[in-house]
Amino acid sequence: MDQAEQDRRSRIRKEVDAMQGFKQLEFQPCLLCGRGMAHNQDLDFYRVRLERFLIDYAKVQQQAGFEMSLGGAAALGQILGPDHDLAKEPSPQSPFLICGQCAMDKKTPLALLSERSVARDED
Ligand SMILES: [Zn+2]
Repeated sequence: MDQAEQDRRSRIRKEVDAMQGFKQLEFQPCLLCGRGMAHNQDLDFYRVRLERFLIDYAKVQQQAGFEMSLGGAAALGQILGPDHDLAKEPSPQSPFLICGQCAMDKKTPLALLSERSVARDED
C-alpha cells in the first residue's frame, strides 16, 4: 500500500467518526458481485437509490407541437403549456449497496443495476 493510499484511508477513517452510522441489519450483499461490503478490505461502499423513468413520447410530441405553435418559443411553451408529465417512473426501486471494488468498475451499465435492483425487489 503506497503513501497516497495510506493517506486516503486515514482521511476516510477521520470522516467516518463524524458520520451517521450504518447498522449491521442494513448491510446486504453487493448487487453486482454478491459479496460483502468489506470483502476486498475497501473502506467505502455505496448505497444507491436509482430512479428510472419511461419517456411518454405522446406527451413529448404534444409539448413540442405546442411550442411549435408559439413559433418555436420553448421557454414560453414551458410556461404557458399544459405541463404534462413527460416521463413516468414505472415503480420506485429500493436502495441497494455496491461494494467499493464494483463501484470502480467502469464497465457496469446503469441499466444493469436497474434490472438487478428490480429483480432483487421481486424476490
Ligand atoms: Zn461488488
